[in-house]
Amino acid sequence: MMYISTRGKTEKVSFKDAVMMGLAEDGGLLLPESVPSVSDRLEELSKLSYKELAFEIISLFTNDIPENDLKMLINKSYSAFENDEVAPVVKKGDVYIQELFHGPTFAFKDVALQLLGNFFEYILKERSEQLNIIGATSGDTGSAAIYGVRGKSNINIFILHPKGRVSAVQEMQMTSVTDANVYNLAIEGTFDDAQDIVKAAFGDISYKKKYKLGAVNSINWARVLAQIVYYFYGYFQAKKQGAENVRFVVPTGNFGNIFAGYFAKQMGLPLDKIILATNENNILARFINNGDYSTKEVVQTYSPSMDIQIASNFERYLYFLCGKDSEKVAAKMNELKTSGKISFSDEDMERVHAEFATFSTSNELTESTIKSFYEKTDYILDPHTACGVAAALKMADADYVCLSTAHPAKFPDVVIKAVGKAPDKPEGIAKLEKLEKKCIVIDNDLQKVKSFVAENV
Ligand SMILES: *Cc1c(COP(=O)(O)O)cnc(C)c1O
Repeated sequence: MMYISTRGKTEKVSFKDAVMMGLAEDGGLLLPESVPSVSDRLEELSKLSYKELAFEIISLFTNDIPENDLKMLINKSYSAFENDEVAPVVKKGDVYIQELFHGPTFAFKDVALQLLGNFFEYILKERSEQLNIIGATSGDTGSAAIYGVRGKSNINIFILHPKGRVSAVQEMQMTSVTDANVYNLAIEGTFDDAQDIVKAAFGDISYKKKYKLGAVNSINWARVLAQIVYYFYGYFQAKKQGAENVRFVVPTGNFGNIFAGYFAKQMGLPLDKIILATNENNILARFINNGDYSTKEVVQTYSPSMDIQIASNFERYLYFLCGKDSEKVAAKMNELKTSGKISFSDEDMERVHAEFATFSTSNELTESTIKSFYEKTDYILDPHTACGVAAALKMADADYVCLSTAHPAKFPDVVIKAVGKAPDKPEGIAKLEKLEKKCIVIDNDLQKVKSFVAENV
């Protein structure tokens, strides 16, 4: 399988090159040049364990990695999960919940970043290359990325977080990783300051080349690929538990997770509509409701990992919506850049409505959903998952599989408000306080961060 850019201005690349590249050189996103179909293999696939299924799906996209090596990478990645099923489905009340939080940092990003970390290590070793990952985080991505590459050879990771402005659990998850290749930098500033420093470091091309900088942002194809697997798995499990007309509900920020569901459907998974759930940062809901794709100010909500207005994976869907016409995609992305919005025709919107429905949830509804769901089912939702469950309960006309993107113990504040007690802490969170911590406090200063990286690679 070769990979193309959504904007059509680059040569095709192999899977390994696509993983190492992240973003395509013409500024577009990488996609496989064709969509492999498994529609005549569903029966066989439904009988597999998560790891076996992951191999069958992922190997359709990775023909430059020998089968045994791929099996080893998949086994290694998903053995880091405390649940053998990796992404189990449980029925609670009227909905199915697919728990994606059994990885080392208790959020769904582990599903993708465990595998990406292993792909990086494998490819770097083969090529005798080094990679120095730099990223800014407001919490979840940074910790999942750190756990994805901790202790790996040929990789260092520098994660900047705004000092004192990430949740206590998130901070401990990052700073308790003491492997020599992991550097936590607590910036005296905000998330935006940290993000600006990272962007500026990448913008310095000679510095970027000299120090072999790389990113772990959500646009890497390998992340989407890892996520396609759990739609298949979740669908099969829900069917086995009696579901008929399966609709996935996806708490969405960057459009990465939901794009993986859309792609699974293109591969032949017989899904009904996919439901895009947002919080008050509802650009994607506005798009689906009435074609209004215009960015607004980000507001802070109870579900911080969805407090996003620039859905970086949206361009991948746009490519399909534009009938795989990369010139049209480039024109639309240019329109977004110059005017802050993209316009869509009635015909476009008809296609969108055939695939997706949407619902956006206020803070009040997030809190009341956690409360009422707990009273009814004795099950505690995290606030991101609650946005999805609120959507499913509102629509209530199919068998909804709600993706649970985080363990509630990661976001205890709103849970305590809603149900009057803290969620039970899994051992992996409870033990964090006792662990040794490693973190460097650094000024909000580009030069200081650049020098720190240069001295430690
Ligand atoms: C990142 C994240 C999301 C949003 O996922 P996208 O792929 O960006 O749409 C939702 N919930 C949690 C807990 C997250 O960490």
